[in-house]
Amino acid sequence: MKSDILIIVEHWNGQVDGITYQILTKGRELADSIGAGLAVLILGHGLEETVSVLKNKGMDEIFVIDNPALAQAGPEVQSQVIAEAVRRLGPRLVLIGYTIIGMELTPAIATKLGITPMTNCVKVELADGAFVVTRPLFDGTLHAKIVLEEKGPSLVALQRGATPAAELPSKQASVEPIQLDIGAIPARSQFLGFVEDPVTGADITKAEVIVSVGRGIADKEKIATVEQLADALGGMLACSRPLVDLGWLPRERQVGASGKSVAPKVYIACGISGASQHLSGMTESQRIIAINKDANAPIFQVAHYGVVGDLFEIVPALTEEAKKSK
Ligand SMILES: Cc1cc2nc3c(=O)[nH]c(=O)nc-3n(C[C@H](O)[C@H](O)[C@H](O)COP(=O)(O)OP(=O)(O)OC[C@H]3O[C@@H](n4cnc5c(N)ncnc54)[C@H](O)[C@@H]3O)c2cc1C
Repeated sequence: MKSDILIIVEHWNGQVDGITYQILTKGRELADSIGAGLAVLILGHGLEETVSVLKNKGMDEIFVIDNPALAQAGPEVQSQVIAEAVRRLGPRLVLIGYTIIGMELTPAIATKLGITPMTNCVKVELADGAFVVTRPLFDGTLHAKIVLEEKGPSLVALQRGATPAAELPSKQASVEPIQLDIGAIPARSQFLGFVEDPVTGADITKAEVIVSVGRGIADKEKIATVEQLADALGGMLACSRPLVDLGWLPRERQVGASGKSVAPKVYIACGISGASQHLSGMTESQRIIAINKDANAPIFQVAHYGVVGDLFEIVPALTEEAKKSK
């Protein structure tokens, strides 16, 4: 059976990124619906560990491009390699994570293939045999549904958390190397080293309870109102990006596409509208509670519980309740 759906695996230091399991789950579902196979593409160097981790995770084929030149290759080379692999394999649909890495790779792959990429997607589904993607517009206040024409392979970059990772059928995938002359690919940039993001204070990725504050707070001095709820719940304070841009909170507290991805037991969003860039960092939270005075705020679309109201009334009341039950 031909693999009409191809997943680009994201991995680092032998660890497969969670987004790969999310798009694998979606890829399996779509492949089953069209009666096609599901393949993944892994590139890098020294990939035995990564291949063995993925081997029984529900795909039919694993294509591997293992080359010392890819150990530290940047997007210039990686996009060329992926484009060439897609040309050779001829899938109908290529799924990639819309992560920091995917954001850089996707347009570059598309340019090389002469196709239009669908970036920042929150959904991909089948309708009347065609792939249809959903993309947020205007900070998530509108969503566009786009039917893919399939004049070549379709390249879809899915946001983190757009689709949940599920248990996949345990089947042994076949593993096939792809040989490419990677040394011949010109690169104008050079990898000099990896600089770990310094965790100077709070590490919100470790918190079980996060109380997150957004622009609805309106005043730096009032952040304490939300911080008190975080303290009363034994949780950590986080925030949306505008508060970091304003210099009100440090970057290590920022949740979202250009901040941290978090998955606590409880995430309470206070005065946060729910722009796609924020959602992509927190939708994996087990319970999401949103407090917002706008009943149409997109955050309510992902919230398990929502309170439409003024955070300056709701948050102190919750803090009092939390203190009582301590
Ligand atoms: C490339 C790029 C990367 C980005 N990365 C990130 C990222 O990592 N993280 C991130 O968060 N954003 C990111 N953004 C910004 C993002 O697009 C939004 O602008 C941002 O998330 C909005 O933050 P907010 O929800 O706090 O503010 P707003 O969108 O202004 O929403 C404020 C909300 O507060 C509500 N509100 C106001 N007053 C009250 C009140 N008294 N009580 C209750 N509710 C009230 C309003 O109804 C509104 O919904 C990025 C943008 C770009 C272009």
